Amino acid sequence: MEQQPDANAQPSKKAAKKAEAKAKKEALKAQRAAERVASQVASVDLEDDPAKDNYGSVKTPTFSPDAEAVELRSLDESHDGKTVVVRAWLQNSRIQSAKMSFVELRKGGNWTIQGLVTATIQGTGAEAQVPSEGPVISRRMVKWIAGIHPESFVAVEAKVQKPIEPVKSCRISGLELHITKCFLLAPAPAMLGMTMAAASQPVVNFSDEEPKAADAEADAQKDAEHAASGGTPAASMLTHLDNIAMHKRAPVQQAIADIRIEVKKLFRSYLEARRFKEFEPPCLIGAASEGGANVFKLAYFGQDAFLAQSPQFYKQFEIAGGRERVFSIGPVFRAENSNTARHMTEFTGLDLEMEIQQDYTEVRATLEGVLLHILRELQVRCADEIEIVRSVYPSEPFLLPEPGKELRLTFAEAQQLLREEGPPEFRNVRDDEDMSTPQEKAVGAVVRAKYKTDFYVIDKFPETARPFYAKVDDSGATVGDGVRVTNAFDFFLRGQEILSGGQRINDPDELEERIRSKGVDPKSPGIKEYLGTFRQVGVPPHGGGGIGLDRVVAWFLALPSVHLTAGYPRTPKRLMP
Ligand code: ATP
Repeated sequence: MEQQPDANAQPSKKAAKKAEAKAKKEALKAQRAAERVASQVASVDLEDDPAKDNYGSVKTPTFSPDAEAVELRSLDESHDGKTVVVRAWLQNSRIQSAKMSFVELRKGGNWTIQGLVTATIQGTGAEAQVPSEGPVISRRMVKWIAGIHPESFVAVEAKVQKPIEPVKSCRISGLELHITKCFLLAPAPAMLGMTMAAASQPVVNFSDEEPKAADAEADAQKDAEHAASGGTPAASMLTHLDNIAMHKRAPVQQAIADIRIEVKKLFRSYLEARRFKEFEPPCLIGAASEGGANVFKLAYFGQDAFLAQSPQFYKQFEIAGGRERVFSIGPVFRAENSNTARHMTEFTGLDLEMEIQQDYTEVRATLEGVLLHILRELQVRCADEIEIVRSVYPSEPFLLPEPGKELRLTFAEAQQLLREEGPPEFRNVRDDEDMSTPQEKAVGAVVRAKYKTDFYVIDKFPETARPFYAKVDDSGATVGDGVRVTNAFDFFLRGQEILSGGQRINDPDELEERIRSKGVDPKSPGIKEYLGTFRQVGVPPHGGGGIGLDRVVAWFLALPSVHLTAGYPRTPKRLMP
């Protein structure tokens, strides 16, 4: 019996090869066509064209004196019937007939509009009848515009009009541009390294490794199948970064970048309104401050310098120096060979430190306050951007606690929740051992289901899980096998850590004892100066926290990696671009 083709079956190797060959052939055909049009665009002799002053490759275009220069984002109904000048990226073009072409222009993220150009000169050559008034547009001009490569930068003069029907494919759907002049200011090549369609797909692979030959072949096959079935092949992070301009032009990346700016603004404005003062900790330091191996060393005039792996000591110097309440926004460097979705070797820290009046919960409340302010305001101020991101990386809305109902669990309570309501593999987690990332995520899932929030605090970490400067809880509370707890906490977004903070030791003897008990020499470079500062003056009780900006943006948006939120992610294997 002849076998019926199974609709669900994976394509055979032969079929996949055929699809790949077909896709290659199509790509080659498209490239040739693009090159043909490109050479026409470059070589066109405009001298005998009555419309020659209205188009072409020029450095300084001239427009009608009454045409108003507008940004696409500001175009609205008040422009209907007016003549405007728009500078934008040409995203797409297509020729409809010898007399008419359509283009799609884009600027400022995803502000897109349809433009059309219609020949007004009747006939061609010696027969041509140039209109006595109104725009002079030749068929050659119409064809030339359709041949401009996607992602070229153009300036057009156009009359704004309402389309017969809304243009669904464009963000500005209620208006269109009837182009009368079009100048190519910066041409893009015939073939882009990554198309806008591919740049606007979710990144498929975040590995920094160049794919092995076998994997590359498998990926190419998948892409070919996808392309052959009419889909747009998605690209890896490596491809995105190798095509940095296209990566950045994609509306999703523009939206992420704009949300990131807003987080910084909200952090700064909230704190400034509460008497916090900004300061700039150094990036170059003379000793590996927190004594770790995770510090970058560099040559510095015959001695070693290091890149700061946190502004911690400097925030405390500010408090010792009488600055009362301080914050900083700046780069932090970690020489950790962590190739994960949460780590980069350089990230942006949002840090604060403040004097304590009564107890450390003042610090916790300030940090909760600033983060809730950021998360609430983002939903209002960046609603459009969040929607753009969600259209590429779908996510559940971020659940915020109701005002006054913030969720705070102690470390021991979180572990108990995990043992009792988490997945079976976490039945035996201990209260005196730090949580792993899978454990943190599992707590996040239980908390979301039980308390309906994606934002919460885990407080009172055991001493074993915190650095030497963390202040131990004076009540003498212990967990597990008698391990003391600290006035230190982490904050979480969707089950992932975004902040570490707490009260710091301000008594020099207590600090020295804790430094020793952590196996660090109090006389070692950096530590000696740090400890010495607490002996120079009386330092008030204080505390603070460090927030990872990249993680706040990534986990708020439920992105698959922090590498999408940094403009130029730095990872153990990648320093370019
Ligand atoms: P992790 O355990 O996830 O590596 P950490 O405990 O080392 O983080 P901290 O030193 O407490 O983190 O830093 C404070 C904040 O800085 C973290 O909560 C996180 O938001 C951010 N952060 C830390 N390391 C990185 C990194 N390598 N890349 C991006 N952000 C980071």
